[in-house]
Amino acid sequence: MAPATQTAFSEGEIFRLIRTGAAQSRADLARLTGLSPSTVALRIDNLIARGYVEESGEGVSRGGRRPRVLTVRAGGSVVVGIELGEQHATVALFDRRAEIVASTVAQVSLLDGVENVVSQVWECARRLAEDAGGRVIEGIAMSLPGPVDSRTSRLLAPMRMPGWNGVDVGEVLGSVTGLPLLIDNDANAMAMGEFIERGGEHEQLVFVKAGSGIGCGIILDGAVYRGFRGVAGDISHVALHNAPPIICSCGRVGCLDVVASGAAIVDALREAGAAVETLDDVLALAQDAHPQATSALREAGARTGEVLATIINFFNPQSLVLGGLLATADAFVAGVRQALFTLCLPMSTDALEISVSRAGVLAGARGVAWELLERLLDPARIDEDLRHPAQ
Ligand SMILES: [Zn+2]
Repeated sequence: MAPATQTAFSEGEIFRLIRTGAAQSRADLARLTGLSPSTVALRIDNLIARGYVEESGEGVSRGGRRPRVLTVRAGGSVVVGIELGEQHATVALFDRRAEIVASTVAQVSLLDGVENVVSQVWECARRLAEDAGGRVIEGIAMSLPGPVDSRTSRLLAPMRMPGWNGVDVGEVLGSVTGLPLLIDNDANAMAMGEFIERGGEHEQLVFVKAGSGIGCGIILDGAVYRGFRGVAGDISHVALHNAPPIICSCGRVGCLDVVASGAAIVDALREAGAAVETLDDVLALAQDAHPQATSALREAGARTGEVLATIINFFNPQSLVLGGLLATADAFVAGVRQALFTLCLPMSTDALEISVSRAGVLAGARGVAWELLERLLDPARIDEDLRHPAQ
């Protein structure tokens, strides 16, 4: 077969401009692409005929008649986005516009092993699609609470995931579902979810996922930056100055994770005699102004801020977003802020927006689903699809 020829601003490229919100009307497209109005009209007709685009309502007039608005057609099929945590999985369905169709939380335990967990979340997704009017599932994307090799979809020495180290989760998910799929680290997925939630405005964004463990995802020019092997942003094993001598799973002493993660806070408070079993218990105590719990959260925030200060100085992002359970605690957020303003260069923090996650519990699921849609709706794939007659 002849290789796919993709002309400048093919249907696929036009679709991309509409999908990303860069163009909302035929006039926008003509202006952005330099194509003649009749060529734009031809491309749009093809995209409408094949169910990719619809034209509706009225847009904002730039003088003269108000233009019709072009949008991605939501379609009847969905992609599944899953954020896998230690004790639960958030499972959600998204249409082609990346809008949520349905979501649920499944109780799963990583200790049950890869095959069991993957089967459980897949069952859950299938039921959800069935209940949502029998939607067809086009693909499945899952984020994992550990470092993922971006060249495969293998976990690289994850913490608190016994039995998962070195496992190619994508291979398991593929054999169970037979669908196009995507696997990513959870902090990367949440960073992308947050970027979309904010309308794509913050093109240089650092997202910190502070929960049982601490991870970090980087958005660079609007895409996830993964580094060479996929582990960019993994700050769990950054060593701290004057840290308590606690040994980390990596074998070294004083890593951020064993000092400032949710799991570390629970351990420290328990040793000090507080009646806590989970991070939720700690957060509840802090809500009641429990001095030890509040102090531990603030200290964890300061330690996290210490590591982030180097990253902020080096990377100079526009936005730092704090997410995960710890970010719901005011004391933790205050600790991060204080450390950053003490340790960062003023030129790094002057224009830096520091905020708490807005994307909420669906951030990770939305982020991986968006990344999968990027692949499934890639311009070259759409052009290829349009070359074949409609079925
Ligand atoms: Zn470590």
